[in-house]
Amino acid sequence: MSARILDGKAVSARVRAEVKGDVEAFSAEHEATPGLATVLVGDDPASHVYVGNKIKACEEAGIRSIHHGVGEDVSQAELLDLVAGLNADDSVDGILVQMPLPGGLDQDQVVAAIHPAKDVDGLTATSAGLLAQGRPGMVPCTPLGVMELLAEAGVEVSGADAVVVGRSILVGRPMAALLTNASATVTVCHSRTRDLASVCLGADILIAAVGSPRMVQGDWVKPGAAVIDVGINRTDDALVGDVDFDLAAERAGAITPVPGGVGPMTIAMLLRNTLSAASARRRSAGPAV
Ligand code: NAP
Repeated sequence: MSARILDGKAVSARVRAEVKGDVEAFSAEHEATPGLATVLVGDDPASHVYVGNKIKACEEAGIRSIHHGVGEDVSQAELLDLVAGLNADDSVDGILVQMPLPGGLDQDQVVAAIHPAKDVDGLTATSAGLLAQGRPGMVPCTPLGVMELLAEAGVEVSGADAVVVGRSILVGRPMAALLTNASATVTVCHSRTRDLASVCLGADILIAAVGSPRMVQGDWVKPGAAVIDVGINRTDDALVGDVDFDLAAERAGAITPVPGGVGPMTIAMLLRNTLSAASARRRSAGPAV
């Protein structure tokens, strides 16, 4: 293996320690603690684990969690009322509704109900629009974590040819916007892309966000490229990414492992987004919005 391994656990620990220090400074200045509201609908075990990890990370960073566990028989109107209440609650700086919602509930409508100032997941159309325009706003945590990893690794983004495989609202699209805003030349690929291998081969920065185990082959990697694997796939024997790690690492200059690469960055960036939301709300005179 020749590639440098980008250690997401270490970078995440560094970001979380920074946020903790900044939260202390914020609390001293404003005599208030940043607050993150989490909403979990139903009993999906994986979602319970994700939300539990987020609450624990908040505690460690000094961010107050306000958790709402809701039965899966909740109506759309009740859920929208809950979000409206959190929008109006001045002690809540960020709102995270864990996805996916149980069938029958309209996820898009619930996301749209979150006030953009508290949209710490960066999923509202307002946040996406601001990002697309290169203006300040809340940015989805996973692509933000990828940018942090690239910066930490000293990867030159400006002027680089970047290829993003995947165009989801959660990862691919905001990832492409962030890279564009950082002056990369960006190609977005998806399930209809012709000759994906040759497009990937042109990438100085290759981001895989597909959800297909080891789909990106080693010989699709340009020698020396930075390869960021967002994928998390459970196979019978292991948790693997979207990149065939062993072969890709022979050619890449730097590469993220799975697990331990992008994954740990997501929660770190959620904490940072929550603190950013709290600071921005105080700067704008702190309305209950
Ligand atoms: P998604 O919504 O299912 O989107 C997958 C994207 O991949 C789509 O744009 C799809 O294209 C594209 N795609 C599917 N098959 C393809 C193929 N054969 N060739 C090229 N493109 C193909 O998934 P997501 O939410 O973006 O998540 C992607 C992966 O990242 C998953 O493994 C997920 O678990 C992981 N993830 C990790 C984190 C983290 O914290 N590390 C966070 C979020 C997601 P079309 O648009 O044409 O269908």
